[in-house]
Amino acid sequence: MSDDRFDAIIVGGGLAGCSAAIVLARAGKEVLMIERGDYCGAKNMTGGRLYGHSLEKIIPNFAEIAPIERVVKKEKISLMTEDGSLDIGYHSAKLSAAPESASYTVLRAKFDRWLAEQAEEAGAEIIPGIVVDKILVEDGKVVGVEATGEEMYADCVILADGVNSLLAQQLGMKKELEPNQVAVGAKMVIKLGEDVINQRFGLNGNEGMAWLSAGAPSDGNFGGGLLYTNKDSVSVGIVATLSDIGHSDLSVPQMLDRFMAHPSIAPYLEGGTPIEYSGHLVPEEGYGMIPELVRDGVLVTGDAAG
Ligand SMILES: Cc1cc2nc3c(=O)[nH]c(=O)nc-3n(C[C@H](O)[C@H](O)[C@H](O)COP(=O)(O)OP(=O)(O)OC[C@H]3O[C@@H](n4cnc5c(N)ncnc54)[C@H](O)[C@@H]3O)c2cc1C
Repeated sequence: MSDDRFDAIIVGGGLAGCSAAIVLARAGKEVLMIERGDYCGAKNMTGGRLYGHSLEKIIPNFAEIAPIERVVKKEKISLMTEDGSLDIGYHSAKLSAAPESASYTVLRAKFDRWLAEQAEEAGAEIIPGIVVDKILVEDGKVVGVEATGEEMYADCVILADGVNSLLAQQLGMKKELEPNQVAVGAKMVIKLGEDVINQRFGLNGNEGMAWLSAGAPSDGNFGGGLLYTNKDSVSVGIVATLSDIGHSDLSVPQMLDRFMAHPSIAPYLEGGTPIEYSGHLVPEEGYGMIPELVRDGVLVTGDAAG
Protein backbone atom coordinates (compact mmCIF):
# COMPACT_ATOMS: atom_id res chain seq x y z
CA MET A 1 0.00 0.00 0.00
CA SER A 2 1.44 3.40 -0.96
CA ASP A 3 2.04 6.06 1.68
CA ASP A 4 -0.95 8.12 0.58
CA ARG A 5 -3.46 5.27 0.08
CA PHE A 6 -5.39 3.84 3.05
CA ASP A 7 -8.28 1.50 3.76
CA ALA A 8 -9.95 4.31 5.70
CA ILE A 9 -9.31 8.01 6.25
CA ILE A 10 -11.06 9.44 9.30
CA VAL A 11 -11.58 13.20 9.47
CA GLY A 12 -11.71 14.44 13.08
CA GLY A 13 -10.00 13.07 16.17
CA GLY A 14 -12.78 13.50 18.73
CA LEU A 15 -14.54 10.66 20.55
CA ALA A 16 -16.23 9.39 17.37
CA GLY A 17 -13.13 9.55 15.17
CA CYS A 18 -10.82 7.94 17.74
CA SER A 19 -13.35 5.15 18.41
CA ALA A 20 -13.64 4.42 14.68
CA ALA A 21 -9.85 4.44 14.36
CA ILE A 22 -9.42 1.93 17.21
CA VAL A 23 -12.01 -0.50 15.82
CA LEU A 24 -10.70 -0.36 12.24
CA ALA A 25 -7.02 -0.56 13.18
CA ARG A 26 -7.69 -3.56 15.41
CA ALA A 27 -9.42 -5.21 12.44
CA GLY A 28 -6.12 -4.91 10.58
CA LYS A 29 -7.12 -1.97 8.37
CA GLU A 30 -4.69 0.76 7.27
CA VAL A 31 -6.16 3.82 8.96
CA LEU A 32 -5.26 7.49 8.75
CA MET A 33 -6.96 9.94 11.12
CA ILE A 34 -6.59 13.67 10.41
CA GLU A 35 -7.26 16.17 13.21
CA ARG A 36 -7.07 19.93 12.72
CA GLY A 37 -6.16 20.62 16.37
CA ASP A 38 -2.54 20.48 17.53
CA TYR A 39 -3.49 17.20 19.21
CA CYS A 40 -6.68 15.15 19.60
CA GLY A 41 -8.77 16.88 22.26
CA ALA A 42 -7.23 20.30 21.73
CA LYS A 43 -10.43 21.66 20.18
CA ASN A 44 -13.01 19.47 21.87
CA MET A 45 -15.56 20.33 24.48
CA THR A 46 -18.09 18.56 26.65
CA GLY A 47 -20.07 19.60 29.67
CA GLY A 48 -18.17 16.98 31.49
CA ARG A 49 -19.94 13.66 31.76
CA LEU A 50 -19.08 10.56 29.75
CA TYR A 51 -21.45 7.59 29.88
CA GLY A 52 -19.26 4.51 29.66
CA HIS A 53 -21.58 2.01 27.93
CA SER A 54 -20.34 2.50 24.36
CA LEU A 55 -16.62 2.85 25.03
CA GLU A 56 -16.88 -0.14 27.37
CA LYS A 57 -17.63 -2.28 24.29
CA ILE A 58 -14.39 -1.16 22.64
CA ILE A 59 -12.10 -0.95 25.69
CA PRO A 60 -13.56 -3.02 28.56
CA ASN A 61 -12.88 -1.48 32.00
CA PHE A 62 -11.41 1.59 30.28
CA ALA A 63 -11.90 3.71 33.41
CA GLU A 64 -9.12 1.75 35.12
CA ILE A 65 -6.55 3.08 32.65
CA ALA A 66 -8.10 6.22 31.14
CA PRO A 67 -7.59 9.74 32.53
CA ILE A 68 -11.12 10.08 33.91
CA GLU A 69 -11.66 12.78 36.52
CA ARG A 70 -14.21 11.23 38.89
CA VAL A 71 -16.86 8.48 38.97
CA VAL A 72 -20.37 9.97 39.17
CA LYS A 73 -21.91 8.81 42.45
CA LYS A 74 -24.05 11.85 43.19
CA GLU A 75 -26.78 13.44 41.06
CA LYS A 76 -28.53 16.74 41.62
CA ILE A 77 -31.27 18.41 39.58
CA SER A 78 -32.36 21.97 40.34
CA LEU A 79 -35.26 24.09 39.14
CA MET A 80 -34.00 27.64 39.56
CA THR A 81 -35.47 31.09 39.78
CA GLU A 82 -33.11 34.07 39.65
CA ASP A 83 -32.45 33.85 43.39
CA GLY A 84 -33.87 30.52 44.51
CA SER A 85 -33.66 26.83 43.78
CA LEU A 86 -35.72 23.66 44.24
CA ASP A 87 -33.25 20.78 44.45
CA ILE A 88 -33.61 17.03 44.06
CA GLY A 89 -30.54 14.99 44.96
CA TYR A 90 -29.51 11.35 44.87
CA HIS A 91 -26.33 9.85 46.29
CA SER A 92 -25.53 6.15 46.21
CA ALA A 93 -22.46 3.93 46.10
CA LYS A 94 -24.51 1.81 43.68
CA LEU A 95 -24.50 4.64 41.10
CA SER A 96 -21.85 3.79 38.50
CA ALA A 97 -21.08 0.51 40.30
CA ALA A 98 -21.16 -1.57 37.08
CA PRO A 99 -18.79 -0.39 34.30
CA GLU A 100 -21.44 -0.72 31.55
CA SER A 101 -23.86 1.61 33.38
CA ALA A 102 -21.23 3.90 34.91
CA SER A 103 -20.60 7.53 34.04
CA TYR A 104 -17.51 9.62 34.65
CA THR A 105 -16.54 13.26 34.63
CA VAL A 106 -13.87 13.98 32.04
CA LEU A 107 -11.84 16.82 30.57
CA ARG A 108 -11.62 16.32 26.82
CA ALA A 109 -8.12 17.72 26.31
CA LYS A 110 -6.80 14.87 28.47
CA PHE A 111 -9.34 12.19 27.62
CA ASP A 112 -9.32 12.47 23.80
CA ARG A 113 -5.53 12.58 23.80
CA TRP A 114 -5.49 9.28 25.65
CA LEU A 115 -8.11 7.76 23.32
CA ALA A 116 -6.02 8.81 20.31
CA GLU A 117 -3.02 7.05 21.87
CA GLN A 118 -5.12 3.85 22.04
CA ALA A 119 -5.84 4.26 18.31
CA GLU A 120 -2.12 4.69 17.59
CA GLU A 121 -1.27 1.65 19.69
CA ALA A 122 -3.81 -0.33 17.66
CA GLY A 123 -1.92 0.72 14.51
CA ALA A 124 -3.72 3.85 13.26
CA GLU A 125 -1.69 6.74 11.88
CA ILE A 126 -2.65 10.19 13.12
CA ILE A 127 -1.81 13.51 11.50
CA PRO A 128 -2.69 16.43 13.79
CA GLY A 129 -2.56 20.12 12.97
CA ILE A 130 -3.98 20.03 9.44
CA VAL A 131 -7.46 20.75 8.12
CA VAL A 132 -9.20 18.60 5.53
CA ASP A 133 -10.49 21.17 3.04
CA LYS A 134 -12.06 18.98 0.43
CA ILE A 135 -13.49 15.53 -0.20
CA LEU A 136 -12.30 13.92 -3.42
CA VAL A 137 -15.03 12.36 -5.55
CA GLU A 138 -14.55 10.32 -8.73
CA ASP A 139 -17.48 8.98 -10.77
CA GLY A 140 -19.86 9.62 -7.85
CA LYS A 141 -17.70 7.72 -5.33
CA VAL A 142 -15.75 9.34 -2.51
CA VAL A 143 -12.12 8.30 -3.02
CA GLY A 144 -10.14 10.45 -0.58
CA VAL A 145 -9.49 13.85 0.93
CA GLU A 146 -7.44 16.95 0.22
CA ALA A 147 -5.66 18.63 3.13
CA THR A 148 -3.37 21.64 2.75
CA GLY A 149 -3.02 20.92 -0.96
CA GLU A 150 -2.11 17.25 -0.54
CA GLU A 151 -4.37 14.48 -1.85
CA MET A 152 -4.77 11.27 0.15
CA TYR A 153 -6.79 8.29 -1.04
CA ALA A 154 -8.82 5.59 0.75
CA ASP A 155 -11.49 2.97 0.11
CA CYS A 156 -13.63 4.71 2.70
CA VAL A 157 -13.71 8.21 4.23
CA ILE A 158 -15.30 8.57 7.67
CA LEU A 159 -16.54 12.06 8.52
CA ALA A 160 -16.25 12.49 12.31
CA ASP A 161 -15.73 16.23 11.99
CA GLY A 162 -18.27 17.37 14.57
CA VAL A 163 -21.64 19.06 14.72
CA ASN A 164 -21.19 21.43 11.75
CA SER A 165 -19.61 18.79 9.47
CA LEU A 166 -18.75 21.26 6.75
CA LEU A 167 -17.45 18.29 4.74
CA ALA A 168 -20.81 16.44 4.81
CA GLN A 169 -22.35 19.78 3.80
CA GLN A 170 -19.83 20.04 0.97
CA LEU A 171 -21.00 16.62 -0.31
CA GLY A 172 -24.66 17.64 -0.01
CA MET A 173 -25.26 14.92 2.61
CA LYS A 174 -26.07 17.45 5.35
CA LYS A 175 -27.95 20.74 5.23
CA GLU A 176 -26.72 23.91 6.89
CA LEU A 177 -27.81 23.84 10.55
CA GLU A 178 -31.01 25.64 11.56
CA PRO A 179 -31.04 27.68 14.82
CA ASN A 180 -33.63 25.32 16.40
CA GLN A 181 -31.41 22.28 15.78
CA VAL A 182 -28.45 23.31 17.93
CA ALA A 183 -27.67 24.84 21.28
CA VAL A 184 -24.73 27.05 22.18
CA GLY A 185 -22.66 25.90 25.12
CA ALA A 186 -20.26 28.02 27.17
CA LYS A 187 -18.19 26.48 29.93
CA MET A 188 -15.61 27.53 32.46
CA VAL A 189 -13.28 25.18 34.33
CA ILE A 190 -12.50 26.47 37.80
CA LYS A 191 -9.67 25.09 39.89
CA LEU A 192 -10.59 24.56 43.53
CA GLY A 193 -8.42 21.74 44.87
CA GLU A 194 -9.39 18.13 45.59
CA ASP A 195 -10.06 18.49 49.32
CA VAL A 196 -12.17 21.63 48.86
CA ILE A 197 -14.31 19.84 46.26
CA ASN A 198 -14.83 16.78 48.46
CA GLN A 199 -15.74 18.95 51.43
CA ARG A 200 -18.07 21.36 49.59
CA PHE A 201 -19.92 18.75 47.54
CA GLY A 202 -19.94 16.03 50.23
CA LEU A 203 -17.85 13.58 48.20
CA ASN A 204 -15.33 10.93 49.19
CA GLY A 205 -12.19 9.91 47.30
CA ASN A 206 -12.83 9.88 43.55
CA GLU A 207 -16.63 10.19 43.86
CA GLY A 208 -18.02 12.79 41.46
CA MET A 209 -21.17 14.85 41.18
CA ALA A 210 -23.33 15.73 38.17
CA TRP A 211 -25.60 18.73 38.74
CA LEU A 212 -28.05 19.96 36.10
CA SER A 213 -30.27 23.04 36.49
CA ALA A 214 -33.21 24.34 34.47
CA GLY A 215 -35.14 27.62 34.50
CA ALA A 216 -33.27 30.82 35.28
CA PRO A 217 -29.83 29.58 34.08
CA SER A 218 -30.95 29.71 30.42
CA ASP A 219 -33.29 32.65 31.14
CA GLY A 220 -36.37 30.40 31.17
CA ASN A 221 -35.67 28.97 27.73
CA PHE A 222 -34.80 25.44 26.61
CA GLY A 223 -31.42 24.41 27.98
CA GLY A 224 -29.97 25.05 31.41
CA GLY A 225 -26.95 25.07 33.66
CA LEU A 226 -24.46 22.31 34.35
CA LEU A 227 -21.85 21.67 37.00
CA TYR A 228 -19.56 18.64 37.12
CA THR A 229 -16.86 17.96 39.68
CA ASN A 230 -13.46 17.02 38.25
CA LYS A 231 -10.50 15.81 40.29
CA ASP A 232 -9.36 19.24 41.49
CA SER A 233 -11.59 21.55 39.42
CA VAL A 234 -15.25 21.97 38.50
CA SER A 235 -16.75 22.41 35.04
CA VAL A 236 -19.57 24.94 35.13
CA GLY A 237 -21.54 25.86 32.04
CA ILE A 238 -24.68 26.92 30.22
CA VAL A 239 -26.41 25.37 27.22
CA ALA A 240 -29.03 27.46 25.39
CA THR A 241 -30.81 26.68 22.12
CA LEU A 242 -29.68 29.03 19.37
CA SER A 243 -33.24 29.88 18.29
CA ASP A 244 -34.14 30.89 21.88
CA ILE A 245 -31.20 33.20 22.45
CA GLY A 246 -33.02 35.97 20.57
CA HIS A 247 -35.85 35.80 23.15
CA SER A 248 -33.44 36.69 25.94
CA ASP A 249 -31.76 39.99 26.79
CA LEU A 250 -28.72 38.00 27.92
CA SER A 251 -25.96 36.56 25.75
CA VAL A 252 -24.80 33.02 26.60
CA PRO A 253 -21.60 34.30 28.33
CA GLN A 254 -23.81 36.65 30.38
CA MET A 255 -26.06 33.70 31.30
CA LEU A 256 -22.95 31.83 32.46
CA ASP A 257 -21.79 34.80 34.59
CA ARG A 258 -25.25 35.01 36.15
CA PHE A 259 -25.39 31.25 36.76
CA MET A 260 -22.01 31.29 38.51
CA ALA A 261 -23.20 34.16 40.70
CA HIS A 262 -26.49 32.38 41.60
CA PRO A 263 -26.87 32.03 45.40
CA SER A 264 -27.10 28.23 45.03
CA ILE A 265 -23.95 27.98 42.89
CA ALA A 266 -21.60 30.78 43.99
CA PRO A 267 -20.67 29.32 47.43
CA TYR A 268 -19.35 26.18 45.70
CA LEU A 269 -17.06 28.23 43.43
CA GLU A 270 -15.78 30.71 46.00
CA GLY A 271 -12.01 31.22 45.94
CA GLY A 272 -11.60 29.20 42.71
CA THR A 273 -9.30 30.11 39.83
CA PRO A 274 -10.68 30.02 36.26
CA ILE A 275 -8.29 27.93 34.15
CA GLU A 276 -10.26 27.34 30.93
CA TYR A 277 -13.11 28.96 28.97
CA SER A 278 -14.68 27.29 25.96
CA GLY A 279 -17.68 27.52 23.67
CA HIS A 280 -19.19 25.04 21.22
CA LEU A 281 -22.40 23.99 19.47
CA VAL A 282 -24.40 20.99 20.72
CA PRO A 283 -26.76 19.03 18.43
CA GLU A 284 -30.21 19.15 20.07
CA GLU A 285 -32.98 18.36 17.60
CA GLY A 286 -32.42 14.61 17.48
CA TYR A 287 -33.99 12.49 14.75
CA GLY A 288 -34.95 15.48 12.59
CA MET A 289 -31.33 16.56 12.10
CA ILE A 290 -29.85 13.20 11.12
CA PRO A 291 -28.21 13.74 7.72
CA GLU A 292 -27.69 11.24 4.92
CA LEU A 293 -25.35 8.86 6.76
CA VAL A 294 -23.80 6.74 4.01
CA ARG A 295 -22.85 7.13 0.38
CA ASP A 296 -20.50 5.21 -1.85
CA GLY A 297 -17.10 5.53 -0.12
CA VAL A 298 -18.19 7.78 2.75
CA LEU A 299 -19.82 7.45 6.18
CA VAL A 300 -20.86 10.17 8.66
CA THR A 301 -20.59 9.55 12.43
CA GLY A 302 -20.64 11.19 15.88
CA ASP A 303 -22.05 14.71 16.23
CA ALA A 304 -21.64 15.09 12.47
CA ALA A 305 -24.39 12.45 12.22
CA GLY A 306 -26.70 14.53 14.43
C1 LIG B 1 -21.45 22.66 26.34
C2 LIG B 1 -21.52 21.21 25.96
C3 LIG B 1 -21.84 20.27 26.91
C4 LIG B 1 -21.89 18.92 26.57
N1 LIG B 1 -22.10 18.02 27.56
C5 LIG B 1 -22.02 16.71 27.29
C6 LIG B 1 -22.02 15.74 28.33
O1 LIG B 1 -22.00 16.08 29.53
N2 LIG B 1 -21.98 14.43 27.99
C7 LIG B 1 -21.93 14.03 26.67
O2 LIG B 1 -21.91 12.81 26.41
N3 LIG B 1 -21.90 14.92 25.66
C8 LIG B 1 -21.92 16.24 25.94
N4 LIG B 1 -21.80 17.15 24.93
C9 LIG B 1 -21.75 16.66 23.55
C10 LIG B 1 -20.38 16.07 23.24
O3 LIG B 1 -19.39 17.01 23.52
C11 LIG B 1 -20.34 15.67 21.77
O4 LIG B 1 -21.40 14.76 21.53
C12 LIG B 1 -19.01 15.04 21.37
O5 LIG B 1 -17.97 15.96 21.49
C13 LIG B 1 -19.08 14.56 19.93
O6 LIG B 1 -17.87 13.95 19.57
P1 LIG B 1 -17.43 13.91 18.05
O7 LIG B 1 -16.17 13.13 18.02
O8 LIG B 1 -18.56 13.49 17.19
O9 LIG B 1 -17.18 15.44 17.66
P2 LIG B 1 -16.12 16.47 18.24
O10 LIG B 1 -15.74 16.15 19.62
O11 LIG B 1 -16.67 17.83 17.94
O12 LIG B 1 -14.83 16.21 17.34
C14 LIG B 1 -14.77 16.62 16.00
C15 LIG B 1 -13.29 16.75 15.66
O13 LIG B 1 -13.14 16.99 14.26
C16 LIG B 1 -12.11 17.95 14.07
N5 LIG B 1 -12.36 18.55 12.76
C17 LIG B 1 -13.46 19.22 12.34
N6 LIG B 1 -13.35 19.57 11.05
C18 LIG B 1 -12.14 19.10 10.64
C19 LIG B 1 -11.45 19.15 9.38
N7 LIG B 1 -12.01 19.72 8.30
N8 LIG B 1 -10.21 18.60 9.31
C20 LIG B 1 -9.65 18.01 10.39
N9 LIG B 1 -10.27 17.92 11.61
C21 LIG B 1 -11.50 18.46 11.71
C22 LIG B 1 -12.28 18.90 15.25
O14 LIG B 1 -11.10 19.63 15.52
C23 LIG B 1 -12.63 17.93 16.37
O15 LIG B 1 -11.49 17.45 17.05
C24 LIG B 1 -21.70 18.51 25.23
C25 LIG B 1 -21.37 19.46 24.26
C26 LIG B 1 -21.25 20.79 24.62
C27 LIG B 1 -20.82 21.78 23.57
